[in-house]
Order: sequence, then structure tokens, then C-alpha cells
Amino acid sequence: MSAFLEALSERQPEDQGDRRWLFVPYDQFSDQVGPLAREDAGRLGIVLIETLWKPRLRPYHKQKLCLVLANQRHFALEQARRGVAVEYVFGEASYSEILEEVIARRGPLRMMEAAEYELRENLSGLTSSGDLEVLPNETWLTTREQFDAATADTKTWRMDRFYRTVRGESGILMEDGKPLGGKFSFDAENRKRWPGDPPAPELPTFPTDPIKQEVIALVERIFADHPGRIDPSQLTATTKDAEALWRWALNECLAHFGPYEDAMSVESRGLFHTRASALLNNGRLLPLRVVTEVEALDIPLTSKEGFIRQVLGWREFMRHIHVATDGFRTLAKDGCPNALDASEPLPPAFWGEASGLFCLDRVVEEVWETGYSHHITRLMVLSNLATLLSVDPREVADWFWVAYIDAYDWVVEPNVLGMGTFALGDLFVTKPYVSGAAYIDRMSDYCRPCRFSPKDDCPITSLYWEFLARNQKNLDGNPRVAMPLRNLERRSDEKRSGDRAVREWVQDTLAAGAALKPEDRP
Ligand SMILES: Cc1cc2nc3c(=O)[nH]c(=O)nc-3n(C[C@H](O)[C@H](O)[C@H](O)COP(=O)(O)OP(=O)(O)OC[C@H]3O[C@@H](n4cnc5c(N)ncnc54)[C@H](O)[C@@H]3O)c2cc1C
Ligand code: SF4
Repeated sequence: MSAFLEALSERQPEDQGDRRWLFVPYDQFSDQVGPLAREDAGRLGIVLIETLWKPRLRPYHKQKLCLVLANQRHFALEQARRGVAVEYVFGEASYSEILEEVIARRGPLRMMEAAEYELRENLSGLTSSGDLEVLPNETWLTTREQFDAATADTKTWRMDRFYRTVRGESGILMEDGKPLGGKFSFDAENRKRWPGDPPAPELPTFPTDPIKQEVIALVERIFADHPGRIDPSQLTATTKDAEALWRWALNECLAHFGPYEDAMSVESRGLFHTRASALLNNGRLLPLRVVTEVEALDIPLTSKEGFIRQVLGWREFMRHIHVATDGFRTLAKDGCPNALDASEPLPPAFWGEASGLFCLDRVVEEVWETGYSHHITRLMVLSNLATLLSVDPREVADWFWVAYIDAYDWVVEPNVLGMGTFALGDLFVTKPYVSGAAYIDRMSDYCRPCRFSPKDDCPITSLYWEFLARNQKNLDGNPRVAMPLRNLERRSDEKRSGDRAVREWVQDTLAAGAALKPEDRP
């Protein structure tokens, strides 16, 4: 018998009768909200489903599979220990098919609303028939009304307006109705390159146990062909692990979070980023708790506000956008939105083939080793390259979805389609987030070990000019791009044709899975 099933049967309460049953999906591992927080454990039962159906939909990073399964198994044990009855179902069918069978035995179930569109859609038959009652998902900090109020009267949706609304209404970082420090955002002060000091924190490690080991062996066996490396020391699967990670974030990261938020470095992959996203997105850490505890910290306001804006602002905003557009299906009925008509395939470099571009290779290596990289590497290295190369945004989103341990449709799709690739046009960002080598050189030390020079022959700069030229019609009239477009006008025909040649060379070389070399540059 497996260590997990043995431990579960030891801890299961003997009396399983006369209980109300709740379905807990793979991203709601909390007993601090909803029925699990309010109702008597001795009168409650939970249904947890471990099905091969979901991981067979796409090749998720092995560390992500371990994270989901190990958390779910530990959550089952934690709940059984406090007297909640647990029905843990293994299967290969979809959630709805498995739940249908459970409902036939136990009668109607309840659940807190699923965050992922994909799961809501899969369960829609059961929810509309009334067999599965949907309760509000209490992990969110904001309401649809707040989103609607902040986006009413405009065709474009702006996070700043939403953030100001929810700051004002929640009273977070507010004093006498005014924002602390006199303004809502300190973003402009938070764009420093990291000079190596203050020292970046060492990552915490987490103890392994028989439950984690069993999950790791299972993933290695059944999903051997999935990409990514499993790092047991970074597998946060229990309440204790989540507490340890969050304590580390509070003590080691947050004081310096703000100023170096946009910095990238060879010396430290995560710098002062908290790595809380995977646990915020699976319920182990609740957004209300992290925001409240950061608000109470004695740290500079730039860091405090910088972090709170990410969780209270961006994270909530992204979720509302996904819900409001049915995962963008209301915007593009025939497929994925694609404002720039980008249709190139994702180069093999994203799957680990060396590209010769140090920044890209470095971040891709980190992603396949850990299932994580911080925000600016996602935006200004990975998405930047994909956008400059006109990669199909759906392919980019699918790559991010499988590559990152914190990816779920409600968060990965708006970030990639809206912010990373400009596939939604100016729906909620003002301009495409693209840059040449100058930005990467300014914000990182990646260019030093690179064979290309950011000031001389870096192909990313040529790709940037060629991207502007190719999309000039699309971008004309956008005030945020007016200056780069004016600079483009001044670029000589000779340079422009050089840019096109570089783009062709990069595209062909990377498509062939080969590495770019300075000596081959046209
Ligand atoms: C192209 C692209 C893809 C992304 N994909 C994901 C994804 O799949 N899952 C995901 O959780 N985040 C995603 N993000 C947002 C952001 O990069 C990650 O939340 C962050 O890097 C997670 O690392 P951290 O916990 O160390 O973050 P920190 O820098 O410590 O930030 C604190 C928290 O703020 C929240 N946050 C910050 N920015 C965002 C944002 N734009 N959207 C939602 N939450 C945010 C996260 O919960 C994060 O844990 C993506 C961003 C981009 C540009
Ligand atoms: S020189 Fe260009 S390719 Fe090399 S690390 Fe810098 S930006 Fe990246």
C-alpha cells in the first residue's frame, strides 16, 4: 500500500456518516476560508480528485505536477487529521465524469467557484443541473462590481484605476482617505539595477517526506516525457512549508523588494522576489493574509506599496479580465486574440536548445530547472523575444502555461496575451512591452558574459527596429510609442534593410534549432 493511502486511512475519522460533502479542486488548499473554515470538521467531508485527465491535456513541467499532487495529498492528510472525512478519488476521466459518479453515491455536492475557466467549463453540466452547488470563492480580495465600476465608461481597462478604487474602498495603505506617502504608486522609484548589494537572499529549502517522495516517483514514472527538472528541496507541499516560505519572504525579501523589482542578475535568479505566486495560486497562502502582513511590516513604503500593488492590483485585475471576457472568448470567437497578426512558431530555444543569446538561454535554463523566473525575465526577455519574432501568441501562452509552476489559465492568459505579446492590443496595457538590448543591459548583468555586445551587434536591437517598422501602421497614433516611431523615421534605409536581414537570420537560425554566432551576423 502506498505511504499516502496508509497515512490517510490511519487518520480518517471513523464516523463518515451524516456529513455535508464539498469538492475541493486542485487550487483551493485552504481551510481558512469557505465551509472548511466555518463548519464543524466532524460534520464535513471533502472530495479530492487525482486524475490523469488534466496532466494529459498539456505537457506541464514535472515540478508543477509534483507541486499539485503533493499539496493535494498533504491537504487530504491535514484535513483528515482535524476530523474532516476525505474521499480521495484516483482516475483518468475528467473532473465532471468523476464527480458524476461521486454524486450518484453521495448526493449533490458543493464547491467554491473554480478559478480556472477550463474547470468551470468542464463542470458546467453539473452546476447547471444543480448537482454541484457553486459557492463564492472567498480567496479573492475584490469583487466584480469593483472591477466593473473601475472599467465603466472606457473601452480600455486600466489597472491603475482599479487599484485606486480598491485601495480607497479597502483602506489598505490609506490614511484619512488619502494614499500613504501622498501617491498610489511608487513604481517610478522602483526601477533600479541591482549592483550586487544589498546581498540577495539564499533560497530556503524544504524537507522531503514519504508523501513527496511517492509523488516524485509517480511523476517520474508516468510523466517521464514531460519537460522540466524536479527539485525536491523546492517542493513546498505542506502548511508548514508554506509558512516557512512566507516567513522567508517577509524577513529576507520584502525590505528590498521595491527598488530591485525590475532588476535581473546572473548572480541571483530571484533577487528579492518572494516566490509566493505558486502558493497564492493554490490556496496555501491567502492574498488577504499576505497583503495585511506586508502592510504591517516596518519596511520602506516603496517596497510595501510595490508588493501590495502586485497582489491587490495586478493579480486581482488579471482574474477579473479573464472572467469578464470568458477567457477572451468574447473578444475572438474564432480563436485566440492576435492584434499584431503574429503567426510564427515558437523557436526550439524556448524548449532548451541554445540560442546564443545569453539572456534568453539563461532564463530558459532557469525555467526548465525550477518552473519559475521572476516577472521582468518573463516580460522583457521571454515575451519580448517571442513578440519581436512575431510568435503566435496562443503558442506563447501555451508555453508559459506548461513551463511555470504558478500558471493557471486565469492568470497566465491575461499576462501573456495582454501584457507579454500585445495580442489584446491596448485593452489593458498602453503599448507593446518590447525593447532592444539597451533595456536588458540597463536592468541586468546578462550582457557581460554574452558573445554579442548590447551596444554593437546584439541581434535583439535589430529585431526591435524591424518590429517597429513591420508594425508601424498598427502602432501609429499610440502616444506611448510616438518617440520610438519618430526615431525609426530617422533610421536610414541601409540600417532598415540590415534589420530585416538580421531578423531573417535570427528567425531561420532559431527555427533550425541552431545557435546564433556574432561571426555569422549578416
Ligand atoms: C508573460 C508573463 C506571464 C506570467 N504568468 C504568470 C502565471 O502563470 N502565474 C502567475 O501567478 N503570475 C504570472 N505572471 C505574473 C508575475 O510574473 C508572477 O506572478 C511573478 O513573477 C511570480 O513570482 P513571485 O511570487 O516571486 O512574485 P513577486 O514579484 O514576489 O510578486 C508578488 C505577487 O504578486 C502577484 N503578481 C505580480 N504580478 C502579477 C501579475 N502580472 N499577474 C498576477 N499576479 C501578479 C503574484 O501573486 C506574486 O506572487 C506572468 C507575467 C508575465 C509578464
Ligand atoms: S547582448 Fe543582447 S543577446 Fe546578449 S545578453 Fe545582452 S541583450 Fe541579450
